[in-house]
Amino acid sequence: MSSLADVDPQIAELVAAEERRQADTVKLIPSENYVSKAVLEATGTVLTNKYSEGYPGKRYYEGQQVIDQIETLAIERAKALFGVGHANVQPYSGSPANLAIYLAFLNPGDTVMGMGLPFGGHLTHGWSVSATGKWFSPVRYGVREDTGRIDMDEVRALALEHRPKLIFCGGTAIPRTIDFPAFAEIAREVGAVLAADIAHIAGLVAGGAHPSPVGHADVISTTTHKTLRGPRGAMLMASDDEHAKALNKAVFPGLQGGPHNHTTAAIAVALREASGDDFKAYAHQVVTNAKALAEELSSRGFSLVSGGTDNHLILIDLTSKGVAGKPAAQALDRAGLETNYNTVPFDPRKPFDPSGLRIGTPSVTSRGMGEAEMRQIGAWMDEVVTAVSKGDAEDVIARVHAEVSELTGTFPVPGLS
Ligand SMILES: *Cc1c(COP(=O)(O)O)cnc(C)c1O
Repeated sequence: MSSLADVDPQIAELVAAEERRQADTVKLIPSENYVSKAVLEATGTVLTNKYSEGYPGKRYYEGQQVIDQIETLAIERAKALFGVGHANVQPYSGSPANLAIYLAFLNPGDTVMGMGLPFGGHLTHGWSVSATGKWFSPVRYGVREDTGRIDMDEVRALALEHRPKLIFCGGTAIPRTIDFPAFAEIAREVGAVLAADIAHIAGLVAGGAHPSPVGHADVISTTTHKTLRGPRGAMLMASDDEHAKALNKAVFPGLQGGPHNHTTAAIAVALREASGDDFKAYAHQVVTNAKALAEELSSRGFSLVSGGTDNHLILIDLTSKGVAGKPAAQALDRAGLETNYNTVPFDPRKPFDPSGLRIGTPSVTSRGMGEAEMRQIGAWMDEVVTAVSKGDAEDVIARVHAEVSELTGTFPVPGLS
């Protein structure tokens, strides 16, 4: 860091402050993780200096002797890890990756079906404020109010009624297993392309802790920076040659220019890490930890959407605790427990001040925490939220913060020395 500190001491100090903040807090945000030192190193390389529009062997710039090898390694590792025939590692992030799917298979105005945002879907699955909701005709499915789970009969009925050309499954706040075969059957019945968006669960899929969409979905999109524990980026995968060709054309030249080669290298590193036995153990521990945390919270009177979790994520409805999501998240953050407030299905409150909290275990598991720490975290959350509901949380926040600091001190953040 010495040259950064010389050139720009302000940014250097802020980076150092963020390192300290990440080390000192228990991060429960389910879409985040800590990358390894190797992934960080690959990200900060001279590969950022190179333009390489096109694909390996077919570029629009000279000097690709090295970049072609790096991108090919990333592609081959993605294909091997997920068991797919084709992979595109160039999308800048999850949202542009999903937009590429629209460009590949739809015309403006065509119908797309996805999970509604308030039920756990992503903006890019046709939500109204997103380009995907403005330029296409969205149809939305949700979850049942009594079970908190997707109702596949409702999905099928909507698909038969609206005949979407594209169906998305997967989302950002779904605590349960996605039934890829059931979605595939519905997509086949109406002649739609099925896109499995595994942004949140890619690491669990890679590690064998969640069923794979391969063999069911026509295309698979994922970010690389959530449970997969790579740099900020994304991938699109397919097994059918025609789907793969359409996706490649959509990413470049359809949507993007030059790929971010430093990110491609870091994705390759993350994919190598994710193919090891350690990562399989990690993926399973993420789920074991989430179940332990969910049980602790349930036993303390927290109401969980769908009653629990099958994956890395827990969605808490705080209504029974008499506190809204935002004040709870803010108090927890001051106690060193980082969460995010979130809408819950059928939320009577407004999206910017909703009833829920969304938490998850990818980050704490990367630090090496296990079930005992999850029970402790559940107890702390209960103490803080209960104190907030009584309107007198300052002492509790201060005490919990001190205890959290003790815990984080014994579980170093991967990637930080
Ligand atoms: C995070 C996420 C995305 C978008 O990824 P960005 O990298 O934030 O653009 C897309 N789909 C799902 C399901 C996600 O969870």
